[in-house]
Amino acid sequence: MLADFTIHIHEARKPLAVQVKIHDSTAALRMAAKKHAIAWDDKDADFSDTCGICHCFHMQGDPVVALVRLAPPHIGAGVVAHEMAHAAVHLWEVQHKWETKHRITNGKDEWFCWVLGELVRQTTIQLIERKIY
Ligand SMILES: [Zn+2]
Repeated sequence: MLADFTIHIHEARKPLAVQVKIHDSTAALRMAAKKHAIAWDDKDADFSDTCGICHCFHMQGDPVVALVRLAPPHIGAGVVAHEMAHAAVHLWEVQHKWETKHRITNGKDEWFCWVLGELVRQTTIQLIERKIY
């Protein structure tokens, strides 16, 4: 494991966080994703083409609602932004209690965009500090 850190989102209705794991290799990432899926009762999940993933969940009393897995060489800005966008969409849903009236629309997207920026910013800092970038 190259890195394992948690990003906390404080500007929310309750403590929210995203855990980020940077695996040594794509093979290690796929194995960990498979283990996670089996633990969450999804035995048929196929990760053979996966280069990055965002597992989303929600457990009472746990601020961590997403786990993003990344691994070299798929560690560039594109993959980071892609997986963090998945996490930000899930954070939006938790923040708005899955109420369909709260759609992400132009003009009402500031919190979503701020969360996405924060996730990408903090991940980038961690990747730089660990000399992965
Ligand atoms: Zn995707």
